[in-house]
Formats: sequence, C-alpha cells, structure tokens
Amino acid sequence: SIVLTPYWSPDEGIQKLKIEARAKTPAAPGLAPPVFSTKAQLDRTLLQLRSRTSPIEKYTFLAQVKQADVEAFYKLCLEYMPEIIPIIYTPTVGDACLQYSKIYRNPEGLFISLKDKGRIGNILRNWPLANEARISVVTDGSRILGLGDLGANGMPIAVGKLSLYVACAGIRPSSTLPITLDLGTDNSSNLSDPLYLGLRQRRPLDVEYDAFMDEFITEMGRVHPKVLVQFEDFSTDHAFSYLERFRNRLPLFNDDIQGTGAVVLAGLLSAARLVPIPRNEHRILLFGAGSASVGVAKQLMSFFTITGMSEEAARSQIWLVDSKGLVYVGREAVADYKMYFARRHYTGLPMKDLTEIVKYVKPTVLLGLSTIAGAFTPEVIRQMSQNTPRPIIFPLSNPVQLSECTFTEALIHSNGTAIFASGSPFGSEVIGGVRREPGQGNNMYIFPGLGLGAILCRAKGVTDSMVQAAALGLAGSLSWDERALELVYPRIERIREISAHIAVKVIRAAQQAGVDNSTDLKRMNDTVLLEFVKGKMWNP
Ligand code: NAP
Ligand code: MN
Repeated sequence: SIVLTPYWSPDEGIQKLKIEARAKTPAAPGLAPPVFSTKAQLDRTLLQLRSRTSPIEKYTFLAQVKQADVEAFYKLCLEYMPEIIPIIYTPTVGDACLQYSKIYRNPEGLFISLKDKGRIGNILRNWPLANEARISVVTDGSRILGLGDLGANGMPIAVGKLSLYVACAGIRPSSTLPITLDLGTDNSSNLSDPLYLGLRQRRPLDVEYDAFMDEFITEMGRVHPKVLVQFEDFSTDHAFSYLERFRNRLPLFNDDIQGTGAVVLAGLLSAARLVPIPRNEHRILLFGAGSASVGVAKQLMSFFTITGMSEEAARSQIWLVDSKGLVYVGREAVADYKMYFARRHYTGLPMKDLTEIVKYVKPTVLLGLSTIAGAFTPEVIRQMSQNTPRPIIFPLSNPVQLSECTFTEALIHSNGTAIFASGSPFGSEVIGGVRREPGQGNNMYIFPGLGLGAILCRAKGVTDSMVQAAALGLAGSLSWDERALELVYPRIERIREISAHIAVKVIRAAQQAGVDNSTDLKRMNDTVLLEFVKGKMWNP
C-alpha cells in the first residue's frame, strides 16, 4: 500500500517508507497480541484518554499517541471531534504553550532561531520530509492567542493548527511542517525560567527582524518550493507588515487577519439573512481594533465593494473601538493599520464608554475582538435591542473566560432576539420554550479548506478573492435544517464535507485570478471537481 511519488530522491523515499511502514505494517506474528483489532485499539485509546483528568494531561497523552501512531490519532480526531478538538486546539493548546517548557518531550516541528541567520536554508533542509512539505504554519510566538509573547513556547500553536488541516481537510500528515521562529522573547518569566526552550534574549529591532524574515522567506521558497505558508500569531504590527511584504513572494496568508475576516464574514452573511434590514443599512461596530478586528473590517470592505457598493459607502458602515475608545481621525494614538477605518467626520469629544458609543453609533451588528471579558454589559445588549429587531452580537474573544458576554446574557438582555456567535463554545439554551443554539465563529471552518484548495490547484499566491471565496463557500454550506434552526455556522461534525466545498470555491477563485497552476482542474465541472477534491483527502 506504499506509493512513492516520482519526484522524491531515494533517501527521502526511504525516510518516508520507514515512517509509513511503522504506521501501516501489521506486526509480525508474536509481536501483536493474539486478539487485536484496530477498532478495539481505538476504544482502548479513548479509554486511556478519558482516564486523564486534567486537560493538559490529555494534551500530552494525545501528543504521544500522535507520535506513536499517527493513524490512531487522526481516527480519534475524526470520530470524536467535539471531544478532541478542544484538547489539541483552543482552549487547551493555550495551556500547552504556557507550560511548554515543562511538558516538552520530543520535537514536533522545526525551530529556527536568530542564531541560524545566514544558514536558514540548511535548517529547513533538515526537515526529514523536505520535498513533501505542502503546508507550513509559521509562528514567532510573539502574540499567542490572547496570551501575549510566549517566545519559542508558541510551537504547540503551529502543531495544533496543522493537526486541524489533517483532521478537517485531509491534508497528508507527512506534508505538514510546523515552524517556530525564535527571535527572542520579551516575556520575562520565560527569560528567567531555567527550563525555557528558546533563546534568552529580548526581541531585536525591526531592521534585524526584517532581515531574518527576508532570509527565511527566500529559503522557504527554495527548499520547499511547493509549500503554502500560514503565518500565525505574530504581534499585530508584524502580522500586517509581513503579510503585505511577503504575500507576493510565496503562496501565503495570515490566519489571524484573513482567516478571522473570512469566518466572521460568513457568519454575518448567514445572520443578516435573519434580519429584515437591507445590507447597506447595517451599522457595524467592532469592539477591539487589533489584527483580528482590522482583518474582519477589511474583509467586510472587500465584500461590500465587490458586491457593488462604493468604497466610501462601505467604509461608512464600519466603526472601530480600541483601548482608547472610538477610533476617529484627529484622535491621538491611532496606529497605522487602524487609520483606514478611523471615522472621518467625527467632531465630538473622545468617547470611551461602550454604552455611550453604542448609543451614538446605533449599531445593528456588534463584534467583540477585544479580549475584554464582560465588555458587552446588560446595558450594552439592551441598548443594541433598541436599534434593531434582531441584534447581531458576536463576542469573539477567546478563550471563553475572555468572551465579551455569554450566550445566556445575550439572550436574556435582548429578550431572546439576539443572533449570537462566539469565539469559544457555549452550550444551547431554552428561552421562551424554544431551544436556541449558539454559533461558534471558529477559524477552523476556513483555513483547512482554503489551504486544501490552494494546494490542489498549486496556487502561486493566495489572493483576497480566494479568501473571500472561502467565506462565501462557508456561508453557502449551511444545510436546510441548519438554516431552519437559525444556525449561522454549520455543524462542526460536517467539517470535511464543508472543507471540500470551500476548497472547490477557492480553486475556482484561483483560476479566475489566474494564480492556479493546473489545467486539469480547469476542465472539470463543479461536480467532478468536488469528487476530485474529496478523493484527494487523506483518511486514517
Ligand atoms: P489584539 O491584536 O491584541 O487586539 C486586541 C484589541 O482590543 C486591540 O485593538 C486593543 O486596543 C483592544 N482593546 C484592549 N482593551 C480594550 C478595551 N478596554 N476597550 C476596547 N478595546 C480594547 O488581539 P487580536 O489578535 O485582534 O484578537 C482579539 C481577540 O479575538 C482574542 O481574544 C482572540 O482570541 C479573538 N479571536 C477570535 C477569533 C475567532 O473567534 N474566530 C479569531 C481571531 C481572534 P489597542 O489597539 O488600543 O491596543
Ligand atoms: Mn491565531
């Protein structure tokens, strides 16, 4: 069952053979117990997982399963997705990063540090499956989730995201490459921790940072010519500047900016269908103005303008609030990346209180990307209900303790009218005798399908139109019964089907933009292309 694709050098082929043989060959007689079935082994693994009581113990257990038996690991992911995802991804992956110095056992990805400057290509060549790399998640650990600068301890984020590419979109495990760039850290507890795994130095100035990143991107293109790069959890200014600087040199996207933009746009499109307000009359208030929020605002702009609105009209529907309050032209301390959305005609005093801002803006949509727990107070929610029959309220900050409000609060203070999606999961609620289910605007709805589509058509770049296609694909993947329940996102259990659907839309967008590189796929109609995509998915 082992197929060697022809572009491998013999050495790499042997490497891969060893890895696959370990995973696939049944043990010789006597080396396996007399009665052994993979089904029972899966049940056994689940039993062992559930016997661990703390989330972090479950995390380290699963990390070991993944190294020992990659098929069992992904089988478990696919069969018990709602139970496994919160362990290998948010929220537990956040704890894993915080405690990485203590829980580290084996390398699961590449570490490239400032000390490697000048020979980054050699380090990249050390990855055992060099020609195999198709997708790489790259972080510099400088802004992990909402947890701040964790330095080299950011590795679990890259590993976890790539596990989701495999589980949710069937990317081959051997094609994934997690990379942590160690450019020092400004986290003093890491710097003084004797077990810390990274360089003990502060982050350098931008000149040095940029030079390192330039070499990294150049070498990445040389050593892994088929790789798609996902930037993850860079500090906000670098997230924006490196996306722009490098997106024309490699197929590359930033999930915190573009993935978030797409998943929120998809949720808003589904939510807007439930509200009797024309699209161009919505008033959208974004609370928080970091990489996620500005990413969402940009995605909204691109959607509004592509669908025919003028740039000015589109921009006038969007308001940003940061830690200093309403963002407007003339206010002090408005960072460059927010400037485009600063309100142009606001002449009042600085406005900081959210209730006051909501009274002034009269939003129909309120998005929370601020990391400020409880910011959507009962008063804010009540005020929202005065502007619209169905307030759209998405408290998107993760993890759940940082959510701007809970599902219960949104329902109670809006008399059950709120249309709700959050970043972290909440349980369903019964209000007025009706069971209501919250949405979860998780980026894992978008990036696996986006990556799969881009890889399959060998895209030379990831265009804005491909990201937008992923968003529209997600919104279009709601089933009739999901719509009847007023869900704004499809059920996560259907993720592989959704990812395949998104991949098709992404491939079409790549073809339209002329960045694809496969004439075969161009000739297929949508039905054939969908089957082709599904057929390419790896299954444990
Ligand atoms: P970030 O870059 O740190 O941005 C946080 C923003 O919140 C900044 O603009 C900050 O203002 C603002 N803020 C902080 N305190 C505030 C306050 N008291 N009042 C108003 N605004 C305040 O973080 P990010 O990457 O954008 O992520 C933000 C949150 O979104 C995180 O919790 C993350 O987990 C979540 N998120 C969710 C999803 C999802 O659900 N799909 C995706 C991505 C991110 P300044 O600009 O003035 O510092
Ligand atoms: Mn992230």
